[in-house]
Amino acid sequence: MAARVSPNEPRSTIYTEAMEVFHRAADLIGLDRRVRMELEEPDYEHIFYVTVKLHTRLTPLAQDADKYKDLPDSELLPDGLEPLLDGSFVFKRRALIGANVAMRDGVLRLKGKGLYKVVPGRPERFKAYRVQHNQARGPYKGGIRFHQDVSLDLFKVLAAEMTWKTAIADVPFGGGKGGIKVDPKSLSSEELEALTLRYMYRLKPLIGPDLDIPAPDVGTDGTIMGLLLRQYTDGERERHKLRGVVTGKDTRIGGSEGRVKATGQGLAYCIQEWFADRGTTPAGSTFVLQGFGNVGSNAAEILGGLGAKLLAVNDAFGTIFNPTGIDVNDLVSYVYENPRNMRRTVAGYPKAQQISKSDLFDVDCDICVPAALGGEITGPVAERLKCKLVAEGANGPTTPEGDRVLAKRGIELIPDIIGNAGGVTVSYYEWIQNKRMEHWSETEVNGRLEQAIKSNYRIIRDIARNTPRRTATHNSSRYAIGKEVDMRTAAMVLALKRIEAHYQLEGFSQ
Ligand code: NAD
Repeated sequence: MAARVSPNEPRSTIYTEAMEVFHRAADLIGLDRRVRMELEEPDYEHIFYVTVKLHTRLTPLAQDADKYKDLPDSELLPDGLEPLLDGSFVFKRRALIGANVAMRDGVLRLKGKGLYKVVPGRPERFKAYRVQHNQARGPYKGGIRFHQDVSLDLFKVLAAEMTWKTAIADVPFGGGKGGIKVDPKSLSSEELEALTLRYMYRLKPLIGPDLDIPAPDVGTDGTIMGLLLRQYTDGERERHKLRGVVTGKDTRIGGSEGRVKATGQGLAYCIQEWFADRGTTPAGSTFVLQGFGNVGSNAAEILGGLGAKLLAVNDAFGTIFNPTGIDVNDLVSYVYENPRNMRRTVAGYPKAQQISKSDLFDVDCDICVPAALGGEITGPVAERLKCKLVAEGANGPTTPEGDRVLAKRGIELIPDIIGNAGGVTVSYYEWIQNKRMEHWSETEVNGRLEQAIKSNYRIIRDIARNTPRRTATHNSSRYAIGKEVDMRTAAMVLALKRIEAHYQLEGFSQ
């Protein structure tokens, strides 16, 4: 008979797992019980559905090739066929202009490409989310993720992380997160636009520039933010006042200079500070990277500029390694400037060896930078790492078991909530600039960001070492707890003390 879980036993989920550090820090500082309850679960969990009409597709036909061997070639206007990653094409009506089509049983042969089945367009339903975790310190703030593996539990984890991160970055926001369960690469650009607009159509009553402010995350970017902005402000009399409803926009429509690079830049500032604490700099150090998207590629470029050497990179499609170092700028061109590299992957990069994903973790280096998805540095992976520092660019890349192994092996950690706080910090600068109708230079943005990230990093380090102090750039005297703790717990202590102050000094609304 299958074992039954007692209904009273709390179910272990990625959310309960992610909240372990919250409970540890809350116990350590004796967090007020009611504040703890307020923070333990989100304020709101919104789940809704969006429908979109998908276009007709031509999908490759693997079987029955013999049956159609006499089918002549069809010629369609290439401009009307949008290639997708799975090898199919989205068919647009303009493909028929001047076309020559021979079809049997809904099958046609594309010149030079093979046989394709015509799959008629149809409406499709997608599950969408927005979790609003806490707003004690300001409007909810957090990214929009378009990915096939999302869930309510995942968005709860990520929304709570934003509450801690905005407190640590000391920006006047709370935490939120949301998105759509969809593989954006399976849609045409027009379908993705329609899905994005429909998502905002449903989301509009729940958000606003002083209520909840989305930003890019995995699978979304400045283009998607522009569409969200348009849909939110469409038909509004005072549209210009609403620009701050999303951050991470293109700089030409109210985005901030330095925002695209901000998360990677913030991580690089933390790494610089880690070296400075040891009386040295990143120059001459080596690093490996997981994820070569926004965070990973920008962090790599900046670290490369500081003289650090990239030895290996893993992404969703492959892993590359070069013991003498990978030229980051050249890799960026290979991934982002080559139109044939549709998957935007490092796989196949000719100036490095192709290795397996698990081999990445065996590369001897100074720094390991996880900048892809969560849960990648598990206990067994942490056992294998041959680095001195894990600098977390991704959200939640290390599991609690991974944390324990890293601590046991003396591998140091820059936790995600400070490591990738650069993005939300510059999002705050974008939001202020939108409110003031200003546009700051990249030098001004980076100057403020460096000061903010490094001083908050120093406060966390002082909490971890129990060395409270007040210097010209930071003051940790209010936060140290009278004993040493690990960096992740220290970061959470800082977040909780800053959030708790709002409940203590402002009280609870009834
Ligand atoms: P992105 O979509 O630009 O890039 C993601 C990268 O991860 C890609 O290179 C992809 O190939 C790789 N990847 C995906 N699945 C993988 C897998 N299973 N194994 C290995 N690699 C895989 O996303 P991004 O904006 O760079 O975000 C990366 C991480 O950083 C996420 O955890 C995100 O939540 C976090 N983050 C991003 C920002 C930001 O400003 N973009 C801010 C804070 C945190």
